Amino acid sequence: MKRKVALMSCTEYDVIKIKEALEETFRDNPEWLEGFTAGESVFLKLNLLLKKKPQEAVTTHPAIVEAVVRFFQDRQLKVIIGDSPGGPYLPSRLKNIYRVCGIEDVAERTGAELNYDVTETVVTFSSGKVVRSFPIITPVVKADKVVSLPKLKTHMMMKYTGAVKNLFGTIPGLKKADYHLKMPEVTNFADMLIDLALCVKPSLHIMDAIVGMEGAGPSNGISRQVGALLISDDPFALDVVATSLVGIRPESVPTITQAQKRGLMTNINDLEIRGESLNGWKLKPFKTPQIKEKVNFPIPEYISRILRPKPIFKKDKCIGCGECIANCPPKALSWDKGVPVVDLDACIRCFCCQELCPQGAIKVKRNILGKFLEM
Ligand code: SF4
Ligand code: SF4
Repeated sequence: MKRKVALMSCTEYDVIKIKEALEETFRDNPEWLEGFTAGESVFLKLNLLLKKKPQEAVTTHPAIVEAVVRFFQDRQLKVIIGDSPGGPYLPSRLKNIYRVCGIEDVAERTGAELNYDVTETVVTFSSGKVVRSFPIITPVVKADKVVSLPKLKTHMMMKYTGAVKNLFGTIPGLKKADYHLKMPEVTNFADMLIDLALCVKPSLHIMDAIVGMEGAGPSNGISRQVGALLISDDPFALDVVATSLVGIRPESVPTITQAQKRGLMTNINDLEIRGESLNGWKLKPFKTPQIKEKVNFPIPEYISRILRPKPIFKKDKCIGCGECIANCPPKALSWDKGVPVVDLDACIRCFCCQELCPQGAIKVKRNILGKFLEM
């Protein structure tokens, strides 16, 4: 049987219209709701990467969150909303992020619970390819069902972030840095993300692709109208359709190619797309970051050091908040006269600093020859 992805046209952040699209999707695909039982709990795992306003297109939009909350409340499920954003995983930080991202208002309007439990539970995953146990935020483990609400964006390290990558936010706060440190290579990191997606195994994925992000995502790119909602019980299939929708070749995305190598995914022709046809979207392809980090031939280290991409700090934009320094996995950043400086020998090019800078003060600089060599 073909795996299914629903592709629904939805051009605005209107709670009523989004909920109508959800009702229609689940009317046509009732098997996706099997196992959701009245009286049980469902944890909505959002993308709340940073304290950003909804219109900045960094986080899952509150209108989608509200529509999904109301959808499950209509079916008498208890809804808990949360994420483990970048930086320390603390209730005070969660509160600020919920407020600025518009999620606190959703909770007030609907009565859904916001998660403030910052404990973790170690989950064994013996069939993992590269990781066999994960520390997972406890509400994800405790909930009867998990529904993931990713946002369609480009990503400086992984090229694209969607259904599979969204689940990295089930790892508590700064513990995410351990995975960057242990797996600095993109393919290894992608395999870890796949293991994690299989371990958490949400029942459903409902993607916010009404407005996505291209360029220097996931936080410093440019917002782009896409006008879609994507829904599936299969994160690999959903990511193949989402990337195809915005003109990103699925085979250029490491989480998709590694899933293909592991037999978890084939290609778009083996999927059944319900709702709208992909051909109905005439989008100019998203601009994507170049991510390949290794050339296929030996190159002296001193030349590689010059050619590889590196983070650059814009003094005029930096407010000295220290987020980049706190979140740098190998501790390659330090202060110099109030501005961060990078030790390029220690830097693993994960670009967490660029991703988590609230001011957009960090750019990734690429050498022209390095770009040509796809470093
Ligand atoms: S570069 Fe960005 S994250 Fe780092 S201290 Fe400056 S403003 Fe904060
Ligand atoms: S300086 Fe930035 S890119 Fe380099 S390791 Fe630290 S967080 Fe990653």
